[in-house]
Amino acid sequence: VAVGTALICASAGSAEEILDQATVALIEATEARRLHSHYAREGASSRRKNLELLGHLSRAIEERELFLEYQPKVDMRSGRTVGAEALVRWKHPTLGLIPPADFIPLAENTALIHPLTRLVFRDALEHCASLRAAGADLSIAVNLSARNLDDPNLFDDLAKMIEEMQLPPSRIELEITESAVLIGKSSVFDGLTALRAIGIRVSIDDFGTGYTSLKHLAQLPIDGIKIDRSFVGQLAHDRKVRSIVKAMIEMAKELGLFTVAEGIEDQETADELARLGCDIGQGYLFARPLGACDLDAWVSRRSQAATPAHLDGANAE
Ligand code: C2E
Ligand code: CA
Ligand code: CA
Repeated sequence: VAVGTALICASAGSAEEILDQATVALIEATEARRLHSHYAREGASSRRKNLELLGHLSRAIEERELFLEYQPKVDMRSGRTVGAEALVRWKHPTLGLIPPADFIPLAENTALIHPLTRLVFRDALEHCASLRAAGADLSIAVNLSARNLDDPNLFDDLAKMIEEMQLPPSRIELEITESAVLIGKSSVFDGLTALRAIGIRVSIDDFGTGYTSLKHLAQLPIDGIKIDRSFVGQLAHDRKVRSIVKAMIEMAKELGLFTVAEGIEDQETADELARLGCDIGQGYLFARPLGACDLDAWVSRRSQAATPAHLDGANAE
């Protein structure tokens, strides 16, 4: 048990602010493994600012200040939209829009990542269901943090949510970084294996930036790899990078894994990836992450004029 306290005085702000301050103190106490910590106003270090943001975040999750954008995924051969990746955003009432890079790493250091991930899942699955009701059979991908894999109930809860919403598990994809899968915990291995057994697909995000050995890759409970943007961005201009990407795609195919390329920004890169046999593409060339309604509009526009992705990426937002 840990306790965080904040003082209510004449100069204090709203009740929410005082609660946020007490939450900051609680996080400080938990991190320092102390029983009690009191919120002190002085010391606005970046660490303190981060902690303040964390204090707000727990409220933001409850008050639904978080929302999702969806970035479409396109089949590189047919040009068909095959799915979308859910990317979380935070609309803070006074600080404005906060990108995930500013709060996900903070949440990952605390247990807040667990309710946050459940919220993302629920919203993403609901949107997947509503797209299906409108006749669009798309898969939805959700990002998981390494820290999520410590949550013993996550995989069961996820399977239950999918069943409750009567979604085909094959339309749900988890994007996990290499380091997360490689932690090597047998519970993670077993959990992912169980999800794959019901049809959920698992892919390695930011592939190429970690340290997966080829031997390891063949043993992981995964279905695909997502080639990191740092390779995709240089592919068209750097012969060595092209060779690396070519080898990644060939190796994935040998292992029976699908390949996704993220961060495709120009037609030349899309053409090259299609030539190399990459299955699925994603990037600003096709569309930036879109609000839920904009995704629906984008999908129906694309379905009316499907052209191979490597021939037409021109209708990006
Ligand atoms: P990521 O999973 O690698 O997501 C791709 C990021 O690249 C997104 O940034 C996306 O907006 C951006 N991007 C997409 N296409 C292009 C392109 O063509 N060019 C460039 N330069 N960038 C592109 P975003 O939305 O800011 O997300 C950043 C990271 O935050 C994500 O990286 C992911 O690791 C994390 N994240 C986002 N949502 C969630 C979530 O719900 N849960 C968890 N655990 N992490 C999340
Ligand atoms: Ca991702
Ligand atoms: Ca990535």
